[in-house]
Amino acid sequence: MIDTHGHIYLEDYDADRAEMLERASQAGVTHILCPAVSSATHDRLLELCGKYPKTSQEKRPPLTCEQSGADDNFAPTAVGVPTCRPMMGVHPTEVNGNEGWREELEIVEDHLATGRFCAVGEVGIDLHWSHDFLPQQTEAFERQIELALRYDLPIAVHCRDAWAETLAVLERYRGRNLRGVMHAFSGGMAEYQRVTALGDFVFGVGGPVTYKRNLWPELLPQMAREHIVLETDAPWLAPVPHRGERNEPAWLTYIQAAVAAILSVSEAEVDESTTQNAKRIFGL
Ligand SMILES: [Zn+2]
Repeated sequence: MIDTHGHIYLEDYDADRAEMLERASQAGVTHILCPAVSSATHDRLLELCGKYPKTSQEKRPPLTCEQSGADDNFAPTAVGVPTCRPMMGVHPTEVNGNEGWREELEIVEDHLATGRFCAVGEVGIDLHWSHDFLPQQTEAFERQIELALRYDLPIAVHCRDAWAETLAVLERYRGRNLRGVMHAFSGGMAEYQRVTALGDFVFGVGGPVTYKRNLWPELLPQMAREHIVLETDAPWLAPVPHRGERNEPAWLTYIQAAVAAILSVSEAEVDESTTQNAKRIFGL
C-alpha cells in the first residue's frame, strides 16, 4: 500500500516516529508521500525523507546503540520501513495573511530545481477560513502549476470550499499534460468528470470513507478503478475506529477495507490497483 499523503515529519511524531513507521511497514505500507506545507517545516521534511529513502523490501544493517540515540527524532530503525518521498509546495492557507508568501514561492522554486521531489504539493485553493486571499492563493496555485509543468511533476491539489475557483484554474491548463492527485477529494461526479477530462488525475480516499456519512459509497462505484489512490492525511482525518485521534499511515488498512467493502472486491485488489495508480502518477 502507498499512503499518498502523510505529514509524518511534523512534531506530532517526534516521540515515536520510528515505532510509527514500523507499524506502517507491518501494516503493508511501502511508501509514504509527504506533502510540504511551508518553509517552517522544510528541514523536517527533508531530514525525514533523507533518512528513510529505501523500500521496505531492502535489508538494513542493524544499528548500534550510539547510532540510535534517543535525541535523534529521525533515526531509522533496524527493520524495514516505508520509503518516505518529499513533495514541495506552499499550502494555500499559508498564503493567507502572509506578507512573505512570494518568498515562500521562491523557496519552493529553488527546492524543485534540485530534482529530489515526487510532486508539487500541496497546492490549491482553500476558502474555508477566509475569502480575502483568493487572488494571492490563485496566483500561488498558478505559479506552482507552472513549476510542475516545467519539472514534469504531478501536483497534489488541496481544494476546500473552493471547487469553482480550483477548477477554473485547472481548466486554464487543459491540453498541457498536467497530472496529479486531488487530495482528500470532497467533490461529486460533476467535479470528478471535469478533473479527469483535464489529464491523468487520481483522487485521494482517506479517513472520511469510514465515517457514517460520506460521499464515497455513491462515488467510488462510478469511478474508474485507475483513478483511486489511498491517503491518510496524517496526523489529521483519522479513520474509524480512531476518529479524533492522531492519524498514522498504519491506519491506511481501515481505509483500504472500507474501499474494498464499497466496491465488493478483496482488500488485496484495492492494494494492487491503488498502488499501481500511485506509482504511475508519482513515478515511483
Ligand atoms: Zn495535507
